[in-house]
Amino acid sequence: RSDLKATLLEINKIAAQYYYVQLKSERGAVAYDYLTDRGLSEETIKSFGLGFATKYSNDLYNYLKRKGYSEELIRQAGLINIDEKNGVYDKFWNRVMFPIMDANSRVIGFGGRVMGDAKPKYLNSPETAVFDKSRNLYGLNRARTSRKSYFLVCEGYMDVISLHQAGFTNAVASLGTALTSGHASLIKRYVSEVYLTYDSDDAGTRAALRAVPIMREAGIAAKVIRMDPYKDPDEFIKNLGAEEFEKRIENARNGFMFSLEILSKNYDMESPEEKTAFFQETAKRLIEFEDELERNNYIEAVAKAYRVNPDSLQKLVTKTAIKEG
Ligand code: ATP
Ligand code: MN
Ligand code: MN
Ligand code: MN
Repeated sequence: RSDLKATLLEINKIAAQYYYVQLKSERGAVAYDYLTDRGLSEETIKSFGLGFATKYSNDLYNYLKRKGYSEELIRQAGLINIDEKNGVYDKFWNRVMFPIMDANSRVIGFGGRVMGDAKPKYLNSPETAVFDKSRNLYGLNRARTSRKSYFLVCEGYMDVISLHQAGFTNAVASLGTALTSGHASLIKRYVSEVYLTYDSDDAGTRAALRAVPIMREAGIAAKVIRMDPYKDPDEFIKNLGAEEFEKRIENARNGFMFSLEILSKNYDMESPEEKTAFFQETAKRLIEFEDELERNNYIEAVAKAYRVNPDSLQKLVTKTAIKEG
C-alpha cells in the first residue's frame, strides 16, 4: 500500500518537473506569456512550480512510459484517461498546470487551466491514493511557515499565488471544492484564526457563509474580507495593490456579524413584524454559542448593530434556548 503511495508521489513529481520544463521550452511560450500577462514573476512561477501540458495528447504518458512506469500506475496517479474510443490519452493537455502539494511539499495532484475561455476553465486531478481534496489545501506547504497567526482562505489557485507574490504568504485555498470540516481541522494544526477572502459574487458569499460555522465548530475564529468592487483577491491586488488589501484585513468583519448582515437583507427592517422575525432567527443562531460570556458579547454586539434593547434580546435568546431544547 504505502509502496503504491510512494510510487504515485514519485510519478507526480516527475510529471510536475516535466510540465515545468515544457513551460520553459519554446512550445511553452504561450503558457509562459499567459502567466506573465497575468502578472506573475519568473520567481513566482518557479516557486509554485507552475507548468504547461502541451497540446499533444500523449506527451506526458509517453514520457512516463519511457521512465519505466506502467500504464496502470500512471492511471492510478490520475494523469491519463482510458476509453474504448480514444484509447489512452493524457488527462491534461493544452493547459497551464498548477501542481498541488501537501503540507510537506510533495506533489499530490494537479489543477490545469485553459488559457482562453474554453470550458471547463479548471480541470483537477481525480482523488487518488495520495490526493484527498478534503484534507489538503493549496499553498499550505508555504503558508505553514508564515509568521502570521492567521491564514487567508480564498477560492482559487491564482488568488493564492497573487497573494503570496504580494507578500501575503499565509494564503491558502481549497481545491476546487467547498471548505469542509477536514480542511478546518487541518487549518487548526497551524492557526486558530482565518480571514475568509472569497470571491465577491453570490457563490463566494454563500461559500463564506457556509465556512463560518464550519470554522467555529473547529475552534477557529473566522473573519470575512470583501473584495468588491473587484471579483477576487487576485484582481483586487492587481488593481489596488498590497496596501489596500492590508486595509481590508484591518477592516475585516467578524464572521457571525457578517452572516447576520446577509441574513438581514431578507427582511424589511422597517416593518415591525419582519424585524421581529429577523431577531427570532438571530436568537436561534445566538444559542449556538455555548460559552455564556461569548454569547453575551454577541448579544450586546447584535443589540448595538441592529438597535434593539439588549435585555429584550437576552430574554428572547433565553426563551429560544428553552424552546429549541
Ligand atoms: P481565474 O482567475 O484563473 O479565472 P479563479 O480562481 O478566479 O480563476 P473561479 O471561477 O473563481 O476561478 O474558481 C475558483 C476555483 O475553483 C479555481 O481556482 C479552481 O480551483 C476551482 N474551479 C473553477 N472552475 C472549475 C471547474 N470548472 N472545475 C473544477 N474546479 C473549478
Ligand atoms: Mn469564484
Ligand atoms: Mn480569478
Ligand atoms: Mn475567482
